[in-house]
Amino acid sequence: MTDSAIADLNEAERARVLAKSALFDPPDLVLADGRRDLVGLDRDDLVTELAAIGEKPFRAKQLWHWIYHQGVTDFSRMSTIARPLQEKLAERFVVGRPSVAADQLSFDETRKFLFRFRDGQEAETVYIPDRHEDRGAVCISSQVGCTLSCKFCHTGTQTLVRNLGAAEIVGQFMAARDAYGEWPSPKGETPRLLSTIVLMGMGEPLYNYTNVAKAMRIVMDGEGIGLSRRRITLSTSGVVPMMDRCGAELGVNLAVSLHAVRDDLRDEIVPLNRKYPIAEVIAACRRYPAASNARRITFEYIMLKGVNDSEADARELVRLISGIPAKVNLIPFNPWPGSTFETSTRGAIDRFSRIVMDAGFSAPVRMPRGRDILAACGQLKTASERARKSVSAG
Ligand code: SAH
Ligand code: SF4
Repeated sequence: MTDSAIADLNEAERARVLAKSALFDPPDLVLADGRRDLVGLDRDDLVTELAAIGEKPFRAKQLWHWIYHQGVTDFSRMSTIARPLQEKLAERFVVGRPSVAADQLSFDETRKFLFRFRDGQEAETVYIPDRHEDRGAVCISSQVGCTLSCKFCHTGTQTLVRNLGAAEIVGQFMAARDAYGEWPSPKGETPRLLSTIVLMGMGEPLYNYTNVAKAMRIVMDGEGIGLSRRRITLSTSGVVPMMDRCGAELGVNLAVSLHAVRDDLRDEIVPLNRKYPIAEVIAACRRYPAASNARRITFEYIMLKGVNDSEADARELVRLISGIPAKVNLIPFNPWPGSTFETSTRGAIDRFSRIVMDAGFSAPVRMPRGRDILAACGQLKTASERARKSVSAG
């Protein structure tokens, strides 16, 4: 197929994915008392909201600073804004946060939050501090549940309830920052405790692209939270047409959940493979614009005993990704209640990793963090259920 034929096909497929995703959009940002949440609005939205109450665009810039740089949620603390306007704002707006329904700390300092949103739906967010330095990753959810049902994933046993909105996605990060008191937002290269975002929590971020993109643009804005695209990694199970758009528009780091090197096996354990098979996923990685030697694509590969962990699998993996600026993350399977797989043996993981490393790729084994509180990769799941069973997903 020619490049333009691929582009046309992808455009049609993208439109289909986006339309389907919109069916699962979250409720509006308006509270029961009629006040609107300002979190999750982009700069243009904010200007529009303020214009509607007769305020000039520079007010949006001031509010942006207070909301995203200072982390202030109370209008009366916004000291560059005069008291009468503070009161006017408080009558019409709020600066919201998800509420903390649960907050658990692992023996290894990994911390799992269960956040509750305004309609009662919940999602999990995990903070994984670096073991040696004052920095760490915040693992953020993009959906409540997931439409895909990867065989090894706990979230995949929960049907998709709904997408998270931009406010809820950026809100997870802001609420985690609240918990560590990390405001105002550290400038430039100043060390941060919450230093990277990984979109690896519940859900498939590329099936909620519009909201994820809006949230990431807010997070990346230099006058607010100011986290660079190099510090954000989006993990996808391989939604090919949206990988192109994500690369072109957001330019964040990409992680791809490969997990198998043959279509027959990947069809089985990552069912999305039936729609976008391995060759198409790899081709999308080869054209991912934000990838370079300095910013490699991460191939995530879950180690399942006797399923995908042979030396032949490792050699085939190397063949598939050769020429891509890539690294391989080997993830020992994390069990969850009712799961049927077993984690590969240490020996099998080491042999696998050696073959990948000998081919010139870095292939670290991701040590499970927060297993005791079910906060490790693939263990997240909430009790939220979809009320309207009539909306089907897939
Ligand atoms: N839906 C996206 C992002 C969330 S899943 C995706 O699939 O990429 C984040 C990562 O955790 C993925 O690589 C996923 O395959 C992995 N994962 C899922 N279940 C797991 C488990 N039980 N043990 C280890 N990793 C798991
Ligand atoms: Fe969804 Fe990712 Fe879990 Fe698969 S691994 S079910 S895509 S969250």
